[in-house]
Amino acid sequence: MSIKQSIAGTTQLLGVIGDPVKHSCSPVMHNAAIAQLGLDYVYLPLPVKAIDLQTALAGFAAIDLVGFNITIPHKTAVMPLLYEISPTAKKVGAVNTVWRTETGWSGTNTDVTGFIAPLKAMSRDWSNVNPVVIGNGGAARAVIVGLAELGCPEIHVVGRNYQKLAQFYQSWQNIPEISSILKIHYLDNLNILIPAADLLINTTPVGMSPNVDNSPVDAIAMKKLKPDAIAYDLIYNPSPTKFLQLAKDNGAVSIDGLEMLVMQGAAALEIWLQQPVPVEVMRQTLREAIYS
Ligand code: NAP
Repeated sequence: MSIKQSIAGTTQLLGVIGDPVKHSCSPVMHNAAIAQLGLDYVYLPLPVKAIDLQTALAGFAAIDLVGFNITIPHKTAVMPLLYEISPTAKKVGAVNTVWRTETGWSGTNTDVTGFIAPLKAMSRDWSNVNPVVIGNGGAARAVIVGLAELGCPEIHVVGRNYQKLAQFYQSWQNIPEISSILKIHYLDNLNILIPAADLLINTTPVGMSPNVDNSPVDAIAMKKLKPDAIAYDLIYNPSPTKFLQLAKDNGAVSIDGLEMLVMQGAAALEIWLQQPVPVEVMRQTLREAIYS
């Protein structure tokens, strides 16, 4: 989808900072929505090295940038530079969306909104749902905050590195609503956890393009998944991943990572523009950018 957008002296600035940002799909998605709304904004890729982060934020304030997304490696490093951080972003320990206020930069984490959006659309009673999360990296943190927000009674997280798992567990100890329901397990125990899982989530990059033949759960283990379970892969390319294909072959409902990407973007754009945004335009634009 290509919608004409013009830039003038009045155009207001939005963007995404990271290192690198060349690969980011956010500019195409946000600019399509802005053009559809007919607004005088533009969303730019803004490459910023870690060492330049503080200088970049001062520069953004100086040029009146309205707001920006944050990608790797700045999502946590930016936090001490912000005036205000939402409770959600504090829990995740990462900020992906920043906007300018009269007092300074405010930040939140819309990955949580993005992650839970396709689950909320299913209208299930999440207080009966047993989720198993594979991986304990950055994205898993947003997933855990989202699952707790949905009301899941326990959250099982599976990781491959004892030391990182222990640190991960420790990092939630000041958040009682999560530490009280979080159970961590070594990867070897995944086979035992799968038969009891109602929601199996891959937050690892295993199976991401170009390694499309890989899956964090093999065909034999996937056969133990309940036929009415939900399989959710945060990966959006390919779609479906091998993980999702195996789960679908077993009867599971599958969710890929595209909707999370769209809905985290829509939530950010709504914050900056203070109005509803054309989610379907964002979804279609991303589909075209990623899959064609
Ligand atoms: P990350 O911080 O590097 O975490 C990756 C996690 O996966 C770590 O726990 C890592 O374990 C584990 N892992 C990596 N390779 C593994 C393997 N071969 N077997 C078992 N575990 C493995 O990365 P992230 O930022 O969380 O991103 C993870 C995935 O989510 C990526 O594919 C990313 O594209 C996707 N994602 C999607 C969205 C979306 O909007 N759809 C948003 C964010 C992320 P170690 O720590 O031991 O290495």
